[in-house]
Amino acid sequence: MDEYGNTGEGRAARRDEAVRAAVEQGLLGPDSPIVGLLDVTGIRESAAELRAAFAEVTAPGTPVLHAFAVKATPLVPVLRLLREEGIGAEVASPGELALARAAGVAPAETVLDSPAKTPVELREALALGIAVNADNPQELDRIDGLMRSAVSRSPLGIRVNPQVGGGSIGATSTATATSKFGVALRDEGAREWVVRAYLDRPWLSRLHAHTGSQGIPFPLMAQGVAETYALAEEINRRIGRPQIDTIDIGGGLPVNFASEVTAPTYAEYARALREAVPGLFDGRYGLVTEFGRSLLAKHGTIVARVEYAKSAGGRAVAVTHAGVQVATRTVYVPGSWPLRISAYDGKGRPKSGPEVVQDVAGPACFAGDLLAEGRALPLLDQGDYAAALDTGAYYFAHHYAYNSLARPGIYGFVPDRAGGARFATVRDPQTLASIVAESGGAHAGALTTLHTPGSR
Ligand SMILES: *Cc1c(COP(=O)(O)O)cnc(C)c1O
Repeated sequence: MDEYGNTGEGRAARRDEAVRAAVEQGLLGPDSPIVGLLDVTGIRESAAELRAAFAEVTAPGTPVLHAFAVKATPLVPVLRLLREEGIGAEVASPGELALARAAGVAPAETVLDSPAKTPVELREALALGIAVNADNPQELDRIDGLMRSAVSRSPLGIRVNPQVGGGSIGATSTATATSKFGVALRDEGAREWVVRAYLDRPWLSRLHAHTGSQGIPFPLMAQGVAETYALAEEINRRIGRPQIDTIDIGGGLPVNFASEVTAPTYAEYARALREAVPGLFDGRYGLVTEFGRSLLAKHGTIVARVEYAKSAGGRAVAVTHAGVQVATRTVYVPGSWPLRISAYDGKGRPKSGPEVVQDVAGPACFAGDLLAEGRALPLLDQGDYAAALDTGAYYFAHHYAYNSLARPGIYGFVPDRAGGARFATVRDPQTLASIVAESGGAHAGALTTLHTPGSR
């Protein structure tokens, strides 16, 4: 339980009501066998917890921008909801920037961070006044050129990699010695290069690091922030004035995928940071954060109908409509990304009964397409529903087009007064016409018009 008394019970109860209401209202059924559900109440609560956590540890009046890492849940209505909750956007591609703008996120609340920004992207960001963190010396060169040719309101910074080391998941460890992100601070000459870069450019006012995502232990995250702060202090000392006025500490708070409880909490992280790096919170620096997974993961659920229940080699297998297309990481790397599964009956009511070890399989045509393998659950039967929990970030919003499986519809929900739920469409289910169009349907004959010279 966290200090808000948040054992996740409210969340679990809301989810159960939403699954039942989705079946009752026909969002889920034989003809729409998979949906993504988003708990609007929960998202608002997490946003409020984030704001409160940093308000508690910062000096009064400290500017703090919480920029949601759009890649975690790239859905316009989600970005609009977060905007209403006082959360901006961290974007890393032209597509993500377009989503943030479509949601109405102001340039002043937007941060651009990608490692491969083109000249056109940089020019647009600087014209809009969006904050940009340069990833490397070549990118800083390009920004130099743009700054010579036009004035910009964009707060500009450099991303550094404190190289504090990796966590338990290689793919999400951004602060290893050889990470592709930022200026590798412990490399020969790199620290001096960064200091020089600021000395030579009075308009560089920010410093950025994001030391990793899921799997990075807490103390390593704090160490990454501490080293970034120490560098900012050194640079400002060398320049003789507080040129760096804002430190962007990135995101990366891990999510507990093993139970309903939110752990660690934003409040715990903010306090741990203040303990480790008190100077960062004394009012001399503004702060930017870039949390993604921790804001959304626990508020999303994939619910999929069991099309068939069968048995193979003595193992019960539920063949559902949720697999690699909506849970790509889990299916390909199950050891790093296990998901909790809940069983519901055909009316969407939580299923009880003795637990049976079973596989929860997806619809894709390869043997490894399993949402869960050898999981003890009430036996799933034909027409029941399996729910993959904590999938609000990096799951159903990250459709993978294997087998041309359609993107499921996504619906936000709030409880109604009658023990049910009210829904709003976040994303329509993908139509077959759209699948054909996205698969070159308009160019059906294209390849037959090309002939190898001399072949006929
Ligand atoms: C992915 C990413 C984030 C968000 O990470 P989470 O683990 O989802 O909080 C923040 N900043 C940058 C630069 C990122 O690449």
